[in-house]
Amino acid sequence: MNKTIKIQKNKSLKQINAFKLDVFASEFIELKTMNDFHENIEYISKKDKKMIIGDATNILFLNDFDGLIVKNSIKGIEKLPNSSPLLIKAYSGEIWNDFVHFSVNNDLGGGIENLVKIPGRVGSGIVQNIGAYGVEIKDLLVSVEAYSFENNKIITFKKEELNFEYRNSFFKKNNGKYFIISAIFQLQNKPKSFILDYGNIKNNLKNIDKLTPLIIANTISKIRENKLPDYKVIGNCGSFFKNPIINYSLFNLLKSKYKNIPSYPINENLVKIPAAWLIENSGFKGYEIGGASVYDKHSLIIINKNNATPNDIKSLSEQIITKVFKDFNVKLQTEVIFV
Ligand SMILES: Cc1cc2nc3c(=O)[nH]c(=O)nc-3n(C[C@H](O)[C@H](O)[C@H](O)COP(=O)(O)OP(=O)(O)OC[C@H]3O[C@@H](n4cnc5c(N)ncnc54)[C@H](O)[C@@H]3O)c2cc1C
Repeated sequence: MNKTIKIQKNKSLKQINAFKLDVFASEFIELKTMNDFHENIEYISKKDKKMIIGDATNILFLNDFDGLIVKNSIKGIEKLPNSSPLLIKAYSGEIWNDFVHFSVNNDLGGGIENLVKIPGRVGSGIVQNIGAYGVEIKDLLVSVEAYSFENNKIITFKKEELNFEYRNSFFKKNNGKYFIISAIFQLQNKPKSFILDYGNIKNNLKNIDKLTPLIIANTISKIRENKLPDYKVIGNCGSFFKNPIINYSLFNLLKSKYKNIPSYPINENLVKIPAAWLIENSGFKGYEIGGASVYDKHSLIIINKNNATPNDIKSLSEQIITKVFKDFNVKLQTEVIFV
């Protein structure tokens, strides 16, 4: 039974979900410390319908949630003493971008600098295997500690056990079965090499002699600020769809028709194409249904432009999937999780 924090009943999630949708949870609790966790985990565990969330920057609530929402705000970052290479433990409710800034401000890198400004928390980043500019969180991860709701105990998973894929992981496939508590990351002290081959990074670093993780993070932050809407101002969940990975026979067919279709080879059989290009070339730039709209600066993003309902966003995404399939024979998959 919870002792120090109260369960809130019939809680509005409007300020708690990044789409800013007007939905409610029948029960809600926010955990801020490991003490909160230990005192409440038995109560949480016994709930049939529950969901752990971070900042809900990757969730589309289709309806009110008839169960317990657990907002995880358990923070903390610790350098593990005498570790070589350098290991850092971060608690799952730590804000991901704060962890990136802690790292680059201490001249620690190894790829984390490329993941600056991704919204959300450390734990959810692992569920989603967040990625940007050629790096994914799995590239930095060593192990994860998670509470199993099936066994009611804490289990440590090595990275290799977590089946990471593009925006996918063991935890995403076993959604609802675990509460990620903390993770250990391996970073590089004063790194000399950087991953700069993606997007516009190199162009923006032209006149700089000595690169540091901080310089790269600041550069990528600026690029992202110009391209992506701030969800605290305009409701959105970032990329609504995954970038599709297709085989070369379909790609060559598309290339013969659309000479300028962008592509990123995955291996000799598969190639990734930007979903934004497909959506834009299906005529959806700025397209609106009810209060939902395709963001005019980046077609991969659906925004809550004007008091959108969950159904406005869902209908818009369905129309996009249908039309892109009709035009290009490519089936888009959502990156955002529908609840
Ligand atoms: C403007 C914008 C830009 C974005 N850019 C990127 C980008 O560049 N790259 C990228 O990969 N993503 C991006 N995203 C998507 C989003 O930031 C990530 O998916 C992020 O990891 C979500 O974090 P969150 O805390 O909001 O998770 P939530 O949306 O709250 O949760 C996501 C999932 O994780 C589960 N979960 C959360 N915490 C735990 C836990 N402790 N234990 C078990 N399960 C848990 C939830 O149940 C849910 O299934 C962007 C989003 C926005 C709004």
